[in-house]
Amino acid sequence: MTNRSYKIGHNREQVSLLPPCVEDYVGRDNPVRAIDVYVDALDLIGLEFRDVGSDGGAGQPPYDPGDLLKLYLYGYLNQVRSSRRLEREARRNVEVMWLLRGLAPGYRTIANFRRDNAAALRAVNREFVLLAHRMDLLGGQLVAIDGAFFHGDASKASILTAKRGAEQIAALDRGIAQYSAALEANDRAEEAAAAASDTPAAGGDMAQKLAAMRQRRAAVADDLAKLAASGDGQLSRTDPDARLLSKHGQIVAGYNVQIAVDDKHKLIVASEVVNDGNDTGQLHAMAQAAKEALGVEALTAVADAGYYNGETLKACEEAAITPYVPLPDRDQRLKGQGRFSAEDFRYDAAADLYRCPAGAELRPMQGHKRQASGKMAIRYASRRSVCRACPLHGRCLANKGERREIERWVDEAVVERHRARMDRDGKAMMRRRKALAEHPFGTLKCRAGYRHFLVRGFAKVRGEWSLMALCYNFSRVLRILGLDRWLALLARYGIRRLWALFARRCCRAGERRRDHARFPPPPSDATGLRLHALAALSCPASALFHPTLAVGRARNYVRAVSKTCSKKTGQSSG
Ligand code: SF4
Repeated sequence: MTNRSYKIGHNREQVSLLPPCVEDYVGRDNPVRAIDVYVDALDLIGLEFRDVGSDGGAGQPPYDPGDLLKLYLYGYLNQVRSSRRLEREARRNVEVMWLLRGLAPGYRTIANFRRDNAAALRAVNREFVLLAHRMDLLGGQLVAIDGAFFHGDASKASILTAKRGAEQIAALDRGIAQYSAALEANDRAEEAAAAASDTPAAGGDMAQKLAAMRQRRAAVADDLAKLAASGDGQLSRTDPDARLLSKHGQIVAGYNVQIAVDDKHKLIVASEVVNDGNDTGQLHAMAQAAKEALGVEALTAVADAGYYNGETLKACEEAAITPYVPLPDRDQRLKGQGRFSAEDFRYDAAADLYRCPAGAELRPMQGHKRQASGKMAIRYASRRSVCRACPLHGRCLANKGERREIERWVDEAVVERHRARMDRDGKAMMRRRKALAEHPFGTLKCRAGYRHFLVRGFAKVRGEWSLMALCYNFSRVLRILGLDRWLALLARYGIRRLWALFARRCCRAGERRRDHARFPPPPSDATGLRLHALAALSCPASALFHPTLAVGRARNYVRAVSKTCSKKTGQSSG
């Protein structure tokens, strides 16, 4: 027993005989190790990161893109996104110090990396999906498609529509008229006062305000002209690609993020950022992207009612994608009036005619009709004489109507097949959809707090979204596999990537001799030989490896490189 009131820490001035190293502060099971090994296993040249393979030159060498990617991955996994905050973390957070080996890039360097590598970040995101596929973490049978609005780096006021522009011009005209009248009255009063007292007339402040309003009006008129010339409905002055998007009465100035989520472990397998607030028309594009990412011949896609569109259903069918989307109730007005809707008329495919609730036939009319949506339709009409005598006349026709017409899209059979599927399995599929599609957005928006983008323009926004999606997938895979199994599987994957890197490098140098192919000269750190990935070979989970030829060769290679590096630097490098 001691008589101390509290636990007491170390004396800050105390000198240790064997001081701890940074490695001691990061536990063996710390997820930061997963980031380190993952980025080290990436082929940054193939992913086309800038400054990869730098051979140095005059001045300071650049930061290794791998280190900056590690910093961003760590930041996005820990809800730190801004470049200034990442800069601070690199100086005070021991995990980041370990991850970057003490490097502390400035915020401009960090921000420029995200700006300049948007396409490469998208490629890393795609690579991760491929990796998850190789690790057997994707089911490849069913995906749920969903969309969510994210705020852009733009305010609602910065986005101009023709209506808003006209309102602003009208308000400015009113202001200009009021100021002009006030200025004239002021001038007259001041001239009279000046004549009486010999003091020069003032009023510059009001004149300046009037000039500013005129300038503002000219700018709005200029923007309206640009808007008319663009053929678009909106003009964004801050972020050129952000748009006013509205859903369920909510208006957001930003982007619509679309995702396809695999059924097996709720991983995002495909995603896209668009600025169209309407999900109609996105179904086929997203399902096709998911199908390609999964590398499957056929796929089932489920989505909510906002995705319903006959043409995209048809496109899905043609691409061997089976869609499940709730059918919208488009005949509410007729049903509300107690009248028969199109659903009450049965199509007889063999006879190519419709039968009405009274059993009468509606036969096809000559020619086609182009609907408002652009789709071609065939009209089917009943006979006037039959309808006149029909006892259901009041429930079927409008007041002055003499016959009933039904429009049938030329590819209506697609919709009928889809309706039959929904009648059979729709409820179960919609339950699965809800459990799948809302998980990633719920996690990203509510847990991580990612509701807006920090960058502007499609290219950069898509790059930032890729980081968000990558971090969602990354943390999910870590949770599913655990760190040891992740390291083991990644090392196996990393070896394959390393061999691809070696081969490319050898080919580039024109060195095709057998010896060099087996033991190419060790590249410098900056060019990116990633020994950390192979260091994972010695992790306790390495027993999970299959002793393949590639693993054996890679081990030999590591030994050879380590020996050479040790001779060169006098240190152990592996
Ligand atoms: S009014 Fe004509 S189309 Fe309507 S139910 Fe009667 S017969 Fe059929």
